[in-house]
Amino acid sequence: MSALVQFRHVKKAFPVRKGMFQRVVGHVTAVNGVTIDVARGKTLGVVGESGCGKSTLAKMLVGLLDLTEGEILFDGKPLHKAGTPSDNQASRNIQIVFQDPFSSLDPRLPVGHSIAEGMVIHKIGNATTRRQAVSDMLELVGLPPIAANRYPHEFSGGQRQRIGIARALIMKPAFVVCDEPTSALDVSVQAQILNLLRRLQGELDLTLMFISHNLSVVQHVADDVMVMYLGVPVEIAPSETLFSNPLHPYTKALLSATPIADPESRVERIRLEGELPSPINPPSGCTFHPRCPLANERCKREVPQLHEHEGVLTACHAVEEGRC
Ligand code: SF4
Repeated sequence: MSALVQFRHVKKAFPVRKGMFQRVVGHVTAVNGVTIDVARGKTLGVVGESGCGKSTLAKMLVGLLDLTEGEILFDGKPLHKAGTPSDNQASRNIQIVFQDPFSSLDPRLPVGHSIAEGMVIHKIGNATTRRQAVSDMLELVGLPPIAANRYPHEFSGGQRQRIGIARALIMKPAFVVCDEPTSALDVSVQAQILNLLRRLQGELDLTLMFISHNLSVVQHVADDVMVMYLGVPVEIAPSETLFSNPLHPYTKALLSATPIADPESRVERIRLEGELPSPINPPSGCTFHPRCPLANERCKREVPQLHEHEGVLTACHAVEEGRC
């Protein structure tokens, strides 16, 4: 299976400013050297606590943030590269569905205008063809075409998320980033939106990157999963493997806190102590060591690198040494 999107050593650092003159006194590294391929037609789930860098990664992919280092390839060609302008034409192939569609829709405009916005910006079609495209998209996501004339406040949360999906799909992308698309919705509505995304993925041959802190949701949709901690991937595995037999202590701790409906699951219970450390001053060695029950002296000293272990990539000294 060929890769549609490839992240190569992608890094994003934000300057930290202080004082009256807002001098740069340091940097926060939100994403630190991510390298991963997303296979065509598949779904990559990206999980981790708030602040682990997953949304920053998504924003770099759709061009909302530039890269500090590294590059992102689309269909084998450079899309975004640190220090160089992005390929805007290719960027149209990647669209995003946000967590809160209400804040991304203009409350003063009928939703048809918001859905067609991308076509207007990229000068695609004329008023008549754009109206038809909006109507087709609304039907595709399960809303009546007449909805184009209504305003965002007239819709429920689930309907607004359908509008968000229509807005992303009207550009006919090959790749869609779903950034916590169901987090703000009731559980029953979450299932409807997940099923809609799965149906559209099959019908439109889409490749998805699905970002969520909810592991049950990721288990439902993802083919492969990348677990991130403080800006770095700590475990990358096929979804089935990761949920039945996680290797990294952080993945185990995340899964411990999530009810998994699988009696065969061999997930070991690990209690996660403390908060995510500040990325301004991250811990030495393995950044997870202050919270890890398996940490030893080597962990405090040496940054673990991703190593392959039975088809799974993990960055952990304990896995490498056979201690877990
Ligand atoms: Fe824990 Fe050490 Fe593995 Fe980090 S490298 S997760 S501290 S055992």
